[in-house]
Amino acid sequence: AIKIDKLNKWYGDHHVLKDVSLDISEGEIMVVCGPSGSGKSTLIRSLNHLEDYQEGVVSVFGQPLSRDRQSHKIIHQTMGMVFQNFNLFPHLTVLQNCTLGLTWLRKMSERDADKMAMRLLDRVGIAQLATRYPGQLSGGQQQRVAISRSLAMEPKIMLFDEPTSALDPEMVKEVLDVMIDLAKTGMTMVCVTHEMQFAKQVADRVVFMADGEIIEVGPPEQVLVNPQWDRTKEFLQHVL
Ligand code: ATP
Ligand code: MG
Repeated sequence: AIKIDKLNKWYGDHHVLKDVSLDISEGEIMVVCGPSGSGKSTLIRSLNHLEDYQEGVVSVFGQPLSRDRQSHKIIHQTMGMVFQNFNLFPHLTVLQNCTLGLTWLRKMSERDADKMAMRLLDRVGIAQLATRYPGQLSGGQQQRVAISRSLAMEPKIMLFDEPTSALDPEMVKEVLDVMIDLAKTGMTMVCVTHEMQFAKQVADRVVFMADGEIIEVGPPEQVLVNPQWDRTKEFLQHVL
């Protein structure tokens, strides 16, 4: 689904992505972990061009992406993203947050958009909160709205950047459960997360990054249980 070929990015003279190459198959669940500052967010944000990079190619379903309109169209049609801090529109209700993209970008009728959004809110267990505003929700509920809003656009690929790290511990599970359900539907997922239980349970492969490089990549039972490199071992001691 995604092919990352020799991606390089610098901030000034700080080399933050170093020759990163990775193929992610359709339906694959990829977990990306690594210490703070290792380039995880930069990498995942490069996949949908929220970040620019100087060298390398990202292809989505065989299409190399560039900065042109066609590439942006592909990105919008295929990729959804969920952030650490939910990024909901505070002045719109839960339902309106989910329908905005459908009525505005997809030109769907309000009635159809409402129907579709309600179905998704129901799927993540918060249909009863449709008329509330984000400020009236818990973090876990807000994150589930953010996931519903992304899913409304019917992405083929979902990108998650630490979706549970801003949540109180008791709310982490309700969001991970939604992600686990999503993984079972055959969605292609790239998840930056330090929830190693989640990684063990659903990841097909785990990527460990440090200093802008992919240090190890492989099935969770390899990278998490029997890592080849000291840097991976050291990191895992801190998060497991
Ligand atoms: P964290 O676990 O803390 O989220 P990360 O692995 O996601 O870390 P990135 O946010 O991708 O790391 O940052 C990678 C490197 O790029 C860091 O050294 C960071 O300081 C640097 N960096 C990130 N954004 C910028 C920016 N806008 N300008 C300059 N340097 C940046
Ligand atoms: Mg980050």
